[in-house]
Amino acid sequence: MNVSRVPRPRSHEAYRRAQRLIPGGVNSPARAFGAVGGEPPFIARGEGPYLYDIDDHKYVDLIGSWGAMILGHAHPEVVEAVTEAMKAGSSFGAPTERESEIAELITEAVPSVEMVRMVSSGTEAAMSAVRLVRGVTGRNVIVKFEGCYHGHVDSLLVAAGSSALTHGTPSSPGVPPGCTQDTLVLRYNDVHGLEAAFASRGREIAGVILEPVVGNMGLVPPTADFLTALRSLTTRFGALLVFDEVMTGFRLAFGGAQELFGASPDLTIFGKIIGGGLPVGAYGGRADLMKHIMPAGKVFQAGTLSGNPLATAAGVATLRILRDRPPYDHLEHLGLRLEDGLRDLATAARIPHQVSRVGSMWTLFFTEKPVTDFDSARRSDTARFARFFWSMMDHGIYLPCSQFEAAFLSAGMDESHIDRILHAAGQSFLSL
Ligand SMILES: *Cc1c(COP(=O)(O)O)cnc(C)c1O
Repeated sequence: MNVSRVPRPRSHEAYRRAQRLIPGGVNSPARAFGAVGGEPPFIARGEGPYLYDIDDHKYVDLIGSWGAMILGHAHPEVVEAVTEAMKAGSSFGAPTERESEIAELITEAVPSVEMVRMVSSGTEAAMSAVRLVRGVTGRNVIVKFEGCYHGHVDSLLVAAGSSALTHGTPSSPGVPPGCTQDTLVLRYNDVHGLEAAFASRGREIAGVILEPVVGNMGLVPPTADFLTALRSLTTRFGALLVFDEVMTGFRLAFGGAQELFGASPDLTIFGKIIGGGLPVGAYGGRADLMKHIMPAGKVFQAGTLSGNPLATAAGVATLRILRDRPPYDHLEHLGLRLEDGLRDLATAARIPHQVSRVGSMWTLFFTEKPVTDFDSARRSDTARFARFFWSMMDHGIYLPCSQFEAAFLSAGMDESHIDRILHAAGQSFLSL
């Protein structure tokens, strides 16, 4: 059984209480440690690169709220911005200037985004982008890729069928087949599969949505050919290309994955970092497309807390820091050192592995074959990952609790944190 060797009596009690009151004891399934077994520590507070649990253990945090906390926890400038905003009132249901400030920061950072609409989660942004894509093109079919996650949107909660060109099958009870019959699920990085889908159904396809670097099957980068094919096929067939940069936006570069790869999608969705740790999402893109959204156009979308003063204050403060004091070179330097170190240690310990990394996002897959899509990711030894995970926890390193989630470095880390992670990994490899 995979459990910690470190007792956490308070967390154990807190988890029992939560399980009586909240389904599974958590408000989002990944937090329950289902993939690694054992019980999650309950968090008391975060500070910079560290988390502290209610049993007074300290961890180097490699989750960072699944990518949102690129500046680390409780960054003083973000705390001050939110405190000031709170004093001035937390929600009005009427326009504020900060909404244009964050829109300006996003559109200046990401040239393909000329206009942007704020919402309250990545899920909401994906759902709204899908509606816009269908509303603008008058077509219904959405293409997504196996292993990419776009939030819990009905039409995107789809498992691949036996043939990629048949209808998608709902991957959760409660999603009627009618919701997914217009979703095609293809294999990530599979140019031929994409060409075949467009060849047979190209004029029905409203849009293609993908994570331009996948974080949600573990870290999987796109091939250059795949990115080229996505842009040229969507353009040729009049479909729209949607980048889900909820994780990658403002993380891989200030302009996100699209800056890194020189790509130009029609629409982009954001979340996580742009909320600085508060609940936020956004979708944006070409102005001629965005002007179809109500009240400028006819595609309906609304939100009581959209553009919320606290969330936009946290977002504006975070994006300003990222623009004026960019951490990206520093994060790349740390990431490379970590990547090289993990590879050397795993090789020395004769553990089959792949280290995937783009900038500050990375995954150590326990498999000997390269990971390029969901099938190859799934070949990883998840039991070994679970043992690794718990050993790292006991060494004070908090990894994402699944082989199929990317880990994140944050800007407040330095080489001493990388050395601590590598030391813990070296010790952990000996016990796998
Ligand atoms: C987290 C995430 C989402 C969903 O965002 P929520 O705010 O959790 O709804 C969508 N897409 C990607 C790529 C994500 O990582």
